Amino acid sequence: MPEIIALGESLVEIMRRKGVPFTKQDVFLGPYPSGAPAIFADAAARLGASTGLISVVGQDDFGLVVKERLRRDGVDTRHVRVARGFPTGVAFVTYERDGSRKFIFHLKHAAAGQLCAADVKAEYFRKAKFLHVMGSTLFIGDGARKACMEAVRIAERAGVKISFDPNLRPELASLKEIRRACEPVLRRAHVVLPSGEEAKILTGEDDPLEACRKLLRLGPGIVALKRGRFGSTVLTEEVGEGTHVAAFKVKEVDPTGAGDSYDAGFVTGLLRGHSLKRAATLANAVGALSVTKFGPMEGCPNLSEVSRFMASRGGL
Ligand code: ATP
Ligand code: MG
Repeated sequence: MPEIIALGESLVEIMRRKGVPFTKQDVFLGPYPSGAPAIFADAAARLGASTGLISVVGQDDFGLVVKERLRRDGVDTRHVRVARGFPTGVAFVTYERDGSRKFIFHLKHAAAGQLCAADVKAEYFRKAKFLHVMGSTLFIGDGARKACMEAVRIAERAGVKISFDPNLRPELASLKEIRRACEPVLRRAHVVLPSGEEAKILTGEDDPLEACRKLLRLGPGIVALKRGRFGSTVLTEEVGEGTHVAAFKVKEVDPTGAGDSYDAGFVTGLLRGHSLKRAATLANAVGALSVTKFGPMEGCPNLSEVSRFMASRGGL
């Protein structure tokens, strides 16, 4: 029985080389195992946390790619269902020359879109300490949103802490839908891990720190604001101005998956009883290493790699 449970989409990512738009005929690279909750689960398991994923893949080779990778890295995949008659979810991704990222998702009508409340079993939460929910899952469709809310309900009842990464993909929902779907999760979350842009979208504030303070007032005890190559800032009710933790300097090859890897570092740190600063340092290190390789899960470090990396940089 896992201590950390994630739920939501697993998929494969089919990637362009940098700077090649979708509109141009060119090669695609992949399949890379992906899906924000799957990346999170993979990263947490590599860090040594007992982690399970609730998800749905298709009965095809892409499904095998995802499931095999998760299993190899130590994720409990007993609750990753194989849906007959549906292909595994796919996301095409490309980076434009200015660094902005574009997605084309095949999720809602694929296996990932078949996730439903019946996939979430209360007995799976018996030893759980954290449930990790991602905003991207809330917007795949009705079934996936209901699965999230069922998991949140079970977690709340069982005293399992909820971590929430808004992980908003504007391609998947309107502003109004985003706020309405995220609100009940935000209110019940112990820790929320947004990017500055996401905090602003959720609250309507112009300033990311002010937006995070507003998020705190909704209910979570901790907000960990992710700032890409600038690191992260942890805010609590007591330390409203936040504790900034600088990033580790690395050469960024592919930023996809950094946020999910950061979440895994932070939640694993909390699970081990780290201080918030130490958890954020671990999370910054996991996030930094994750961007050094091409592919969403390819840079996820294991515990000894991240410990060596932090020691070599004078971290904790
Ligand atoms: P996404 O949702 O696209 O995966 P995100 O916006 O949720 O990303 P980021 O802020 O991009 O998350 O990255 C998460 C964390 O990873 C950062 O807070 C930082 O600690 C680390 N990180 C990301 N990019 C870099 C980088 N170029 N150099 C060093 N650390 C980085
Ligand atoms: Mg994110």
